Amino acid sequence: MSEILIRNADVVVTMDAARREIARADVLLRGGVIAAVGQGLATSGEVVEARGCVVTPGLVNTHHHLYQTLTRAVPGGQDALLFGWLRTLYPIWAQFGPEEMRISALAGLAELALSGCTMTSDHLYLYPNGARLEDTIDAAREIGLRFHPTRGAMSIGESAGGLPPDALVEEEAAILRDMERVVDAFHDPAEGAMVRVGLAPCSPFSVSRDLMREAAALARDKGVMLHTHLAENDEDIAYSLSRFGCRPGQYAEDLGWTGDDVWHAHCVKLDGSEIELFARSRTGVAHCPCSNCRLGSGIAPVRGMRDRGVKVGLGVDGSASNDAGNLIAEARQTLLLQRVARGADAMSAREALEIATLGGARVLGRGDCGSLEPGKRADIAVWDVSGIEAAGSWDPVAALILCGPSRVRDLFVEGRQVVRDGHVATVDLGRLVETQNRLARRLAG
Ligand SMILES: [Zn+2]
Repeated sequence: MSEILIRNADVVVTMDAARREIARADVLLRGGVIAAVGQGLATSGEVVEARGCVVTPGLVNTHHHLYQTLTRAVPGGQDALLFGWLRTLYPIWAQFGPEEMRISALAGLAELALSGCTMTSDHLYLYPNGARLEDTIDAAREIGLRFHPTRGAMSIGESAGGLPPDALVEEEAAILRDMERVVDAFHDPAEGAMVRVGLAPCSPFSVSRDLMREAAALARDKGVMLHTHLAENDEDIAYSLSRFGCRPGQYAEDLGWTGDDVWHAHCVKLDGSEIELFARSRTGVAHCPCSNCRLGSGIAPVRGMRDRGVKVGLGVDGSASNDAGNLIAEARQTLLLQRVARGADAMSAREALEIATLGGARVLGRGDCGSLEPGKRADIAVWDVSGIEAAGSWDPVAALILCGPSRVRDLFVEGRQVVRDGHVATVDLGRLVETQNRLARRLAG
């Protein structure tokens, strides 16, 4: 089996149970797995010199809409609140087809890879003009990231009192059939899986209670995870109270949407009892700080969640509401936002890094990822801290969050090198950017 030795890193941040940070250390990869972590390791295989670098577990992105990288900085959506922003973008998304889905996903995945991400989920909840979930799975396979796509859905259009235009919603029976199809075709429950499928009705304001309930039943029958948006902002809470007569936490619990196999995006407005509910039920949260800032949604109570033992991971969220897709930047934003809310000791740089790596792996149910230990998957980020961003820093691990760099030098996923010397090694990025811009111009035209 082929070996790669990442040698002589200034620091290896393991995220193991003791949170060990090992100076002047090596990581040995054998096949898709970490064989050893420590000093003075040797190999007869390939050697990657990592002097001047910090080596961390790959970052994990727990919430995204990859298709949205084609609608960044759209005029009319730049300054709107959530619901107004959606109304601006829906008609544009209605023009998408399979090529837009695949190219947009490739662009989003490439950006994530360059920012240290080795595993990402995606939430695709509209399927216009023949688009299918596998358009994004093809993209993830091409670039080589570990992928947790979720089969999203919207079923309540404008004419039924929902937010999306009728053209973008599907019939619930057809949604459930396609959910079953994509799970059967693509979900891999095995350790080391590169693709795991989840089920993800878009939000409480775009599907019926029946679909939420039936999706939960199907997920449990198939042994896959559940994901949706919850408690994103004040409008979202008001909608829940007026339409369902309860807060989002209660709504989720009543429909079977709590548990170790469920994670919700945003959760900005969870109150104390909802945080307790999430802790008690082992329900996970995808925290999306830049998106929350960008849409003025508020500051999620991450400190409170973590203190009560809620599983929290990070999400860049869709590029139409961020508009960047840089995951290490989200870790920094997480720390900054908690400090805005709770003071300078609210979160350390190391805790932010933990949420970005191990935290995300736990949210996605991946006990085989998230730390650098023998037997774990070889998902590894190598950060060159010898450049200007971190020059003069006294603590290279904290500097990664507080200073930079915000791009990796090298990235390995399942032992395969996806980023080499700061460049995506698996796809032609120049051509991809060209195609992406051509598609965006066509949509804008
Ligand atoms: Zn989202």
